[in-house]
Amino acid sequence: MPRYEFRCRTCASTFEVDRPMSAASDPADCPSGHDDTVKLLTTVGLGGRARTATPPAVAPSMAPAGGGGGCCGGGCCG
Ligand SMILES: [Zn+2]
Repeated sequence: MPRYEFRCRTCASTFEVDRPMSAASDPADCPSGHDDTVKLLTTVGLGGRARTATPPAVAPSMAPAGGGGGCCGGGCCG
């Protein structure tokens, strides 16, 4: 949910409000109870290209199954 920053013109404090974009232009009350607030221009990080398709790790299906390859198993130890 995007975060919007407001500033209260009564007590000059800023606060943030999480709200859906459909309610972005709705007035917000100051945490101190004032309603004379203005919405500040904020750069909302919605992660435009954050969705990177990362393929899952391929399971090593070519792993040797069952022994072999070891020193004493391959015949090099005698
Ligand atoms: Zn206030």
